[in-house]
Amino acid sequence: MLLLSKIKNKIRPNYRKKKWPGLINAYKKYLPVSSKTPIVTLNEGNTPLIFSQKISELIGNDTKVYLKYDGLNPTGSFKDRGMTMAISKAKEEGSEAVICASTGNTSAAAAAYASRGGLKSFVLIPDGFVAQGKLAQALMYGAEIISIQGNFDKALEIVRDLSSNYPINLVNSVNPYRIQGQKTAAFEIVDDLGFAPDWLCIPMGNAGNITAYWLGFKEYSKIKRNLKLPIMMGFQAEGSAPLVKNIIVKNPETLATAIRIGNPVNREKAKKVKKESKGDFQSVTDKEIIDAYKILAKEGVFCEPASAASVAGLIKNKNRLKKQSTIVCVLTGNGLKDPDCAIKNNEAIFRKNLEPSLDNIIKTLGY
Ligand SMILES: *Cc1c(COP(=O)(O)O)cnc(C)c1O
Repeated sequence: MLLLSKIKNKIRPNYRKKKWPGLINAYKKYLPVSSKTPIVTLNEGNTPLIFSQKISELIGNDTKVYLKYDGLNPTGSFKDRGMTMAISKAKEEGSEAVICASTGNTSAAAAAYASRGGLKSFVLIPDGFVAQGKLAQALMYGAEIISIQGNFDKALEIVRDLSSNYPINLVNSVNPYRIQGQKTAAFEIVDDLGFAPDWLCIPMGNAGNITAYWLGFKEYSKIKRNLKLPIMMGFQAEGSAPLVKNIIVKNPETLATAIRIGNPVNREKAKKVKKESKGDFQSVTDKEIIDAYKILAKEGVFCEPASAASVAGLIKNKNRLKKQSTIVCVLTGNGLKDPDCAIKNNEAIFRKNLEPSLDNIIKTLGY
């Protein structure tokens, strides 16, 4: 018996020795929490870093492309990383309600974590511009939803005013705890690769996430000396590119609704990230986003359109890469968030309403 169990252990090493406790518990010593913080967690974080053979080949030049698939967080986007921190801290401060403006994913995460922590959540969304999956989540997780005839930027203006005058905690990425939670994604990448990538490609909306990643890489470089910092490549949709053009976009437009933001709250921080990392901000068209979205799906990775902007941007810059670079593209949200986009943008063979006979099906399949 003893021998058999020894052999078994050899054949199938125990990769799951430790249960992942959620990112606050995992990275406690790097986060502003104490023994008094009531941790509200759904065991978020620890998302896979997936090597993409297809995209690596497409880029060429011996490049290794990895996908940080943060769409596998509990509510399907990286927003969970920030929200576990924001809600835990709101609870610690005795807050009873939280509020946010959202293009969808923040509201889903806020609603889930608030409900779990026993807090009330209010979310303001731009009417008609929130993807179906995200709306379904906010409804189910128990938020009170207010849709406005205006875009995200207007919604944020309102919740900022509101939260500074009433006892409601603001959980948009102006909330510093959000950034703290989100920086753990950079830790995970370094833990997985053993080093930081040459480039980090990431979509930008309010630019909280690029700020968080940079903070994470910098902090880790202090702990792990010799850690070379990545070049930060931020991508926006062409119709919604306030950081690329250095302007306020009054009427942002893109099918990538998660980054349909005209006046990013973390503008100054993002500029600093670009400068410090010797990075670049560029825009990609909706067509380039959809092309990348399809390439990713053929690799078996289904992300939402906003996330595909990272890969679209990488493809655009392939000639700028040094030989044998290691790239990480951040896939911020799950493809299931926006089923309408997938249904409208695919080349699948979908034969409908066939007569249900074996002969007919065999013939249809071409055998
Ligand atoms: C929120 C979000 C973004 C943009 O992140 P910022 O921190 O606002 O720059 C990108 N993709 C998805 C899927 C998101 O939910």
